[in-house]
Amino acid sequence: MQERGQGIEIEITLQPHGGIRGRCSQCLQPAPGYDRLPERRWRFVPLWGIATWFCYAPRRVQCAVHGVVVEYLPWSDGKRPLTCSMMGFLARWARRLSWRETARVFQTSWEAVYRSVEWFVEWGLAERKLEGVESIGVDEIHWGHGLRADNFLTVIYQIDGHCRRLLWVGQRRAEATLRRGLKALGAEVVQGLRFVCSDMWKPYLKVLAAEAGHALHVLDRFHIALHLNQAVDQVRRTESLRLRTASTQKAKHLKHMRWPLLRRGSRVRGRAREKLNALLSSKLATARAWELKEVFAYFWKYQSVIWAGAFLDYWCERAMRSRLEPMKKVARMLRSHEELILNWFRAKGEISTGAVEGLNNKIRVVTRRSYGFRTYKAMEIALYHALGRLPEPESAHRFC
Ligand SMILES: [Zn+2]
Repeated sequence: MQERGQGIEIEITLQPHGGIRGRCSQCLQPAPGYDRLPERRWRFVPLWGIATWFCYAPRRVQCAVHGVVVEYLPWSDGKRPLTCSMMGFLARWARRLSWRETARVFQTSWEAVYRSVEWFVEWGLAERKLEGVESIGVDEIHWGHGLRADNFLTVIYQIDGHCRRLLWVGQRRAEATLRRGLKALGAEVVQGLRFVCSDMWKPYLKVLAAEAGHALHVLDRFHIALHLNQAVDQVRRTESLRLRTASTQKAKHLKHMRWPLLRRGSRVRGRAREKLNALLSSKLATARAWELKEVFAYFWKYQSVIWAGAFLDYWCERAMRSRLEPMKKVARMLRSHEELILNWFRAKGEISTGAVEGLNNKIRVVTRRSYGFRTYKAMEIALYHALGRLPEPESAHRFC
């Protein structure tokens, strides 16, 4: 133990076993010694809260196949200045704490935490098994500030009942992005798909039809609800603006009503409920839009595809007659994707459609912590780390 710079550190000096030859780091075969490199230090898991280092002068060996190479070091992985144990240790903590906190608690740098998680995730991605993936959900996620193409991520989830996880994430939301993602999963996985769940985003629809046409393509219930809500909100905003410039009494009905209008009607209670009732009896356009949105909830209760289809027709007709442009837009969209929407009933009970929404929410938790992530790459790694359910390298200290 010794004092170095800011405080006490533990240094563990290692010596090679005289009778055992070093092994080639490429093929792990024993090879005759060549020379010795200068001593290096690797950060080890802190002992009793004290920063701990391994000190060792690596041997170089002369491998018959690979020539003169550095010997295999069981605690190290290439050039990284941390032992594998330390990287695993930091990576596991980085799932519970933010990377910045992890670095602070264990007296190391943000960079060291980042590199550790990266190593951990790379190992997991290389070792993970993709057998038995039957249902996937594809979605786009907004990230960071602004609406540039780079501010979107395309994500592919596995949404099978027995396993829900992030399979792939890529920057942007173009056709090429999703193609890249499906390619990364491999032809075997894509061929084995039975259900694919997505939004009505055109590039996705196109790619999924071309690459996974054999799977039943379902438009996600959660996305349709989202489109309906956006339409109601648009009606409210336009009307609110119009009424305020006319400064009528009626403008009051719309004040502070954004969130009550977007909630499911049965969940609006108390004062918000009173306001909502007043709004509904006002015959404002917003009230009619809200009613259309609420009525649509019945659609999901049907058991039979035929009756669901009849309801969809009825609803779209009503919406088209509503004289509310945003609602008409939704109706047109639903009509043009009727078959894919009705697939939801064909897949009923087979896929859990709440899964995509749930995973999206988890992704937001990670990307919000993203203040520490200076690059897209770092965030990508954090997402796999948090949601990929990746296998982990064993945590045993393999040096002994
Ligand atoms: Zn070799």
